[in-house]
Amino acid sequence: HWYIVGTVMFVRTVVGVPAGTELTIPYIDFWNSREERSRLLAERDMRCACSRCQASDTFDNVRCHQCGNEMRGSEGAWYCNTCDRTTTNAQVERASAELREQLQTADDLGRSGDSHSAYEILQEVERALQHEDVGNPLAFQSHYFLRMAHVSAEVKDKPRALQYMKMGVACLMEHSQGRVAGVVPALVRLASLCARFGQVGPVPQVTKQAMGLHKTFFGGGQSLFYERFRAELGL
Ligand SMILES: [Zn+2]
Ligand SMILES: [Zn+2]
Repeated sequence: HWYIVGTVMFVRTVVGVPAGTELTIPYIDFWNSREERSRLLAERDMRCACSRCQASDTFDNVRCHQCGNEMRGSEGAWYCNTCDRTTTNAQVERASAELREQLQTADDLGRSGDSHSAYEILQEVERALQHEDVGNPLAFQSHYFLRMAHVSAEVKDKPRALQYMKMGVACLMEHSQGRVAGVVPALVRLASLCARFGQVGPVPQVTKQAMGLHKTFFGGGQSLFYERFRAELGL
């Protein structure tokens, strides 16, 4: 959370920051994927060099698709000691790149209103998640669930939309360990989906959770997202 008084910028952080550490603020919705962020920034003739945009998370936390355990890596190879299976950096890289591309295509199709094609691609994503060892799978899964929720909502499949949204939020919570501000918009979307579909039961609790996290991340005041959340929830 940041605000400007005169010529001084005040920044509040949710974690301790050693003196001299570089702080970065988003010019665009950082909830977008890395690819989408770089595309949006390129439109403004900008390029981001923050650690989150530069880091490769391909080999972060490689998971065995059969048992879900973390694989152990050494010298370009990965081994699951539960299933006695091995894979290579090249395979993990290929599978991860393919997943990223499919999710991006599904995002693009969803945005252009072609929910049917987006849904078909997302089914391929689901198959790939079950059959490939990829790095950072929770990031892929949460992206997949949230996009699936969106597509299901578009085609008015209410039970599915809510189910995927809940799984997406749970996945995101686990992935971010409650430290990524992106869980706030996901919770707000969940609450607004519930409200739209007449399932008002969980709305107060989800809204309360979103507002609580919003306070943690943004100090409870105005932020880039705050007005949008309020509008989305009809507050
Ligand atoms: Zn960045
Ligand atoms: Zn395994």
